[in-house]
Amino acid sequence: MRGRGALLLAAVGLMVCAPGSSRAQEKTVQQTDSAGTGSQQPASTRPDTPVGVDPSASGKHIAARPEKTHGFWDKENDWLFAGVAASRTLDYFSTLNMRRRGRQEIFLTNDVVDNHAAFAAIEASATGVSIGAAYLFHRYGHHKLERWTSIVHMGLTTTGSVRNYCLKTAHFSATPGSP
Ligand SMILES: [Zn+2]
Repeated sequence: MRGRGALLLAAVGLMVCAPGSSRAQEKTVQQTDSAGTGSQQPASTRPDTPVGVDPSASGKHIAARPEKTHGFWDKENDWLFAGVAASRTLDYFSTLNMRRRGRQEIFLTNDVVDNHAAFAAIEASATGVSIGAAYLFHRYGHHKLERWTSIVHMGLTTTGSVRNYCLKTAHFSATPGSP
């Protein structure tokens, strides 16, 4: 008698706590781990899988979609973007270093470079543009190009920075506007 009362109480509690308990009961067939917690979890961790769909059918559904091999913010991209940002930081300091030694900044006007905040913003936006380009490649399924965008950007920027540090003589031959 006492046991049945407790069971009834538990059932009432479930009804109160989980308004959609009838649906929750259906879900326990698929999700045994959430049974008994009383919490209303989403039907599935994958939002694109409808409730009650045959697993094999959902598998076909995924296979029919365009190739999606990895999340954009996966570990590899995290490291690549960190590398791009690092190479940009290196470029920032190497350019300032070059300016201090009296070199002419050939890609930007000296005014912009000497305005350190604006120059830093340009370096940061270059990183942002690179990540944006990688995202576009990722979005359209070009995952190799997506990685290479960061790798090439990193390589070019680092090469330029090293060259900035290594410059010993000023090159005035390419000065624009000179006869
Ligand atoms: Zn990708």
